Amino acid sequence: MNDSQKLPKVSLQVPPLMWNQFSQSMLQARSTNEEVIGFLFCQRQQISKRQVRYLPKTWVVPAPDCYEHQSATGLVLKQEFHLYLLETYLSQGLDVVHIHTHAGNHSPDFSGLDDRYEAEYALFLSSNFRKPPRLISGVFDEYLQHSQFRIWNKKGNSCEEVKFYRSWFELEETQNPLTETDLMFARQKGFGQTFQKQLGQLTVTLIGCGGIGAILAEQLGRLGVKNWLLIDPDRLEPVNLNRMPGATWKMADQGWHKVEYVKQLIKRIYQTGSCVKAIPESIENETVQKEIAATDLIVVATDNHRSRQIAQELALQYARPLVCLGTHIDIKSDGSPRMYCRITVPPLGGGWCLMCGNIINLQRAALESAPVEIESLAARAGYLEGINDPAVFWLNGICASTGVGVIQGMVTGFLNLEEGLDWIYQFPQCKWHHTNTDYLATPDCYFCGAGDRDFT
Ligand SMILES: [Zn+2]
Ligand SMILES: [Zn+2]
Repeated sequence: MNDSQKLPKVSLQVPPLMWNQFSQSMLQARSTNEEVIGFLFCQRQQISKRQVRYLPKTWVVPAPDCYEHQSATGLVLKQEFHLYLLETYLSQGLDVVHIHTHAGNHSPDFSGLDDRYEAEYALFLSSNFRKPPRLISGVFDEYLQHSQFRIWNKKGNSCEEVKFYRSWFELEETQNPLTETDLMFARQKGFGQTFQKQLGQLTVTLIGCGGIGAILAEQLGRLGVKNWLLIDPDRLEPVNLNRMPGATWKMADQGWHKVEYVKQLIKRIYQTGSCVKAIPESIENETVQKEIAATDLIVVATDNHRSRQIAQELALQYARPLVCLGTHIDIKSDGSPRMYCRITVPPLGGGWCLMCGNIINLQRAALESAPVEIESLAARAGYLEGINDPAVFWLNGICASTGVGVIQGMVTGFLNLEEGLDWIYQFPQCKWHHTNTDYLATPDCYFCGAGDRDFT
């Protein structure tokens, strides 16, 4: 085993909305300076032994009057401003990302001056703070298109590469040759080879392997997703058979776990090359939550508010994109049904969430987590609709299919999801409502508001 195999993979993932604000601010600053500097202040997350991720909590692009002078060695910040930055953010235990630009539009390289300056900077940081922050540095071309990132050790005498992502997912643009299973995607060629390769790399957590989750898995699996983490404590029952593709009486009689049944759906698509972890546990289980943090996308398709709340909290904690799917049917007193399905994608990195957007009801979530006695009291008082809510395959299908389409749009970028998305379909009116996400923004939300999130 050589050294490079031992090193963990280090990534910096900037949520798209934050990246847009940051890069626009950098480009504006460039009109007054030739070179510009920007800072991201990050939380470090140890995803696994081999994977470390830095998530920016906030960003700063200094205004022109924050600079001492512009010299041959580049920009020099006023000392008082620099100290203010460090005291404000680094004392909270955040790590610093220093970003600057080089002239031109080609892939930039760190210069000899950069090496010297950054080495000194890393050393300065480690000798001036009780809990020394790490220094990550990045260099961009003047249009902020191409970049290189690296992280310095505390002595400032060596650095390692950092993978930089400004998208929803940490996916490489691989150029691997086609494999045999790629033959099955001939009719999807139009979306590009990158799209297909990226779907193949994606690992999706599916919370809830019931009537919506199973259809999503079947469709997203056939679109090209091979790596799955399936979470659901429930077993198949005969009452599920009206809406689970490929589920049999035999499976229900044998009491299959729903996760095992969905695993089989994926394994039927991919004879080789897929990786499916099926965990018949509740999402409240802490080991399960650690597993979720290492995946690229969380899809929650359960029928209760409590599990959606936890999924949202995890998505915020680990800055993972979240897709929330649900349907609802009620029958009016004259016997005519009203049917809805809803697809919600909160913005990555906060802005609004399932809780402040009122997508889920916190009171119901609390009741669902309450002991059984309280729950039955509440049910008698009419607070819970119970597990016998009406559900049909075709409505679940609209919901899951649209969710798969949204995920395709997220991966290829043809859907702009920076501000999040909340779509509601209403039948028999056959109408789609698009919630104006501006109204959902809640800066002081307890769950998604900036600042005091508890990272572990
Ligand atoms: Zn430079
Ligand atoms: Zn919120």
